[in-house]
Amino acid sequence: MKIIAVGWNYAEHNKELNPSQLPKHPVIFMKPETALLKDNKPFYLPDFSKRVDYECELVVRISKMGKNIAKKFANRYYDEIGLGIDFTARDLQNEFKAIGTPWEICKGFDNSAPVSEFISKEGYDMNNLRFSLKKNGEIVQSGNSADMIFSIDEIIEYASKFFTLKTGDLIFTGTPVGVGPVSINDQLEGYIEDKKMFQFNVL
Ligand code: MG
Repeated sequence: MKIIAVGWNYAEHNKELNPSQLPKHPVIFMKPETALLKDNKPFYLPDFSKRVDYECELVVRISKMGKNIAKKFANRYYDEIGLGIDFTARDLQNEFKAIGTPWEICKGFDNSAPVSEFISKEGYDMNNLRFSLKKNGEIVQSGNSADMIFSIDEIIEYASKFFTLKTGDLIFTGTPVGVGPVSINDQLEGYIEDKKMFQFNVL
């Protein structure tokens, strides 16, 4: 399986990181399978970074193989949603951005993609879905898929031009405003609407 992720997909978040950037297309990057962290296992801070940021994101799970998927059919290609964290070694990312080299290391390192259990999308409006992240009991991010610059269906249409989507692939759909660093002993809890999706510790 593969993990496709989208950057800069919420305007208010873009202002905090990339004030001059208005993407014309979804900004796509990948994380390897070894980035997955499941079952509320703890996240261990890596020793190669001095600043790892949380980015809470809605995640969709691809349910059938597809290539060149049209937007109007995209909703047939995923049936489950979850919540994840796109952990980012921000200090390294800032160095890479400054010299224009790729991001992979700072976004794709081991365990950089914790994900919740996945639940059926039935009964949820994918274009108006609330989600939130608490750090140590305080809400630090709250988002709504209605505020995405590129909708889930548009992301699927665009990504599937370049990558064949396969059953089990995951798409991280971008983070809303409020990203910030994690420290040892932090506890992260994520919610879709009012449903608790994950809770794990940073060690
Ligand atoms: Mg992200």
